[in-house]
Amino acid sequence: MSAPGSFTDDTYVRRPGRFASVRREQWDSWHWQHQNRLRRPADFDGVFDLSDDERRGFAQGAERFHVAITPHYAALMDGDDPHCPIRRQALPAGAELREYPFELADPLGEERYMPVPGLTHRYPDRALLYVTHHCPVYCRHCTRKRKVSNPETAASKTQLEAGIRYIADTPAIRDVIVSGGDPLTLSDERLDHILGSLRQIPHLDVIRVGTRNPVTLPQRITDGLADVLRRHGPIYVNTHFNHPAELCRQSIRALQRLVDARCVVGNQMVLLRGINDDASTVMTLNRGLLRHGCRPYYILQCDMARGITHFRTPLSTGLAIMDHLRGRIGGIGVPDFVVDLPGGGGKIELLPDYIVDRRRQGPTEIIRFRNFRGEEFDFVDVDRSN
Ligand code: SF4
Repeated sequence: MSAPGSFTDDTYVRRPGRFASVRREQWDSWHWQHQNRLRRPADFDGVFDLSDDERRGFAQGAERFHVAITPHYAALMDGDDPHCPIRRQALPAGAELREYPFELADPLGEERYMPVPGLTHRYPDRALLYVTHHCPVYCRHCTRKRKVSNPETAASKTQLEAGIRYIADTPAIRDVIVSGGDPLTLSDERLDHILGSLRQIPHLDVIRVGTRNPVTLPQRITDGLADVLRRHGPIYVNTHFNHPAELCRQSIRALQRLVDARCVVGNQMVLLRGINDDASTVMTLNRGLLRHGCRPYYILQCDMARGITHFRTPLSTGLAIMDHLRGRIGGIGVPDFVVDLPGGGGKIELLPDYIVDRRRQGPTEIIRFRNFRGEEFDFVDVDRSN
């Protein structure tokens, strides 16, 4: 395999030797990708040699949080570099086993705000509906490790219907996020039913779908799925690219299909140490996303979840990235940098400090700002007596 990083990479062309005899039609089938996921160390024979740390992660960490990697996502990895940003997102590592007293099983308090099982209602106008605990690839930085990848905690049909009924009976809810796990692991028929049921609720303005399939299993974005999304549109699709090397040919085609299906597509990047914690990586990613109709929506500070502290960066890292982006890429490429407060406090946005000084001058206040180049400017503020 060659090193990843080009927007025009085609994972079929890059496929590891293990899949040498696979035909293009098989590779392009999401069912084939799903059935051939890499789950155990032996599955990496003919892919690349696992590092000692990855083997240790398999031996000790995979029990707590399963491993699953689509052949597509494995083809994006650099087999010669254990620090490869794609590899680190999906392969277990010894650091997952370290425990810290501040880590939380449910860092966002999602279970605490559940009026019915499988639905979080925290903000007055929004609800999160969990439709599955299954994902094509289990991201090692997942904030919902407590239940994602565990089939025993998956949403039953009755639970799902109760969640939809709760939304229908609660007129204050205007915005629903269909989440999981990854909702696009469900069949087209099931998604058609869920989205159709939500669309019939008159007080809903917004239906969102949170999915990492465009990154980890872009073959899932078929014409059939696009028809379902178009039928119930506009659907706001938030996906989760973390690194420019993930923007390969298949992912670009998936984004284009979503855009063609009237979806409003945004990206929620999680800031991850050693993966995307520098401004040039984020800039390259955001430019690539914009080129294909996906708006950088959030940079999320990595949560205080158990087993992911080795991915976390200081808040100052995110602020420095925001400071770099502002002024160097149009506002459409500057996402909000957000911290989701532990225990269910909700999201807050952090901004670099642009105010250098403020002083009164008669009835006005002079505020001294700095811009992205460090140049300073006085702005005369008024109050209602002016
Ligand atoms: S796709 Fe989302 S829910 Fe699934 S493992 Fe990754 S971060 Fe967690």
